[in-house]
Amino acid sequence: MKILVPVKRVIDYNVKVRVKPDQSGVELANVKMAMNPFDEIAVEQALRIKEAGQAEEVVLVSVGPQQSQETIRTGLAMGADRGIHIEAGQDVEPLAVAKLLTAVVGKENPSLVLCGKQAIDDDSNQTAQMLSALLGWSQATFASGVELAGDKANIIREVDGGLEHIEVSMPAVISVDLRLNEPRYASLPNIMKAKKKPIDSLSVDELGVDISPRLTVLKVEEPEARQAGIKVESISELVDKLKNEAKVI
Ligand code: AMP
Repeated sequence: MKILVPVKRVIDYNVKVRVKPDQSGVELANVKMAMNPFDEIAVEQALRIKEAGQAEEVVLVSVGPQQSQETIRTGLAMGADRGIHIEAGQDVEPLAVAKLLTAVVGKENPSLVLCGKQAIDDDSNQTAQMLSALLGWSQATFASGVELAGDKANIIREVDGGLEHIEVSMPAVISVDLRLNEPRYASLPNIMKAKKKPIDSLSVDELGVDISPRLTVLKVEEPEARQAGIKVESISELVDKLKNEAKVI
């Protein structure tokens, strides 16, 4: 069995994101980029499935600029087998990514696609759902537990107020949540090995997908700055302020 893991290059989660002066988007120049954290979790899960003898190959695919190959290399250093880079701009919309991934699935024939639940740059949370619809495959989103059993996958999903246990038939698209696992660090020997692992390049034209945008970003704004907090001297002062100033009790 082959597992495909789509990995996106996004602004590193430690970076304080700044809006461009013309409000057309966020500043990307000279900003540290990294693999989307949920995609690291998806790579880790794919590797664990392979290590358990339930998959033979883990293939990473990234849609984005040339530097997305660095993101693929990061996943190869974790232990994935090979990568596919689809050269495109930074802002390919989820539907276009899902269409490109559908074309890659047609070429690669994986039994499982493990995505992140959302990319932390635009927080779309759409690609996995659209991909499963385009493929006509089962869908399991926000997985915090994944167990494969023959032609079924048992998934634990984090939902409001508890955990939902579902069984889906394979092939499936699964999107992973934060608590599924803790991704491994790449060891130095594996970083060296990753340099020799193959990354194929595919063009959007070759895959026959129209990626022209359907959405127009009108404006991006910083969130309103939070007001400074205050310290209270006693519980009674706190209760008084909650009652008479904040009017929440
Ligand atoms: P989104 O729907 O944009 O929040 O992204 C959800 C997941 O889809 C991500 O965690 C990735 O696994 C995958 N994905 C989204 N955009 C890309 C991209 N440009 N390249 C590769 N994978 C992507």
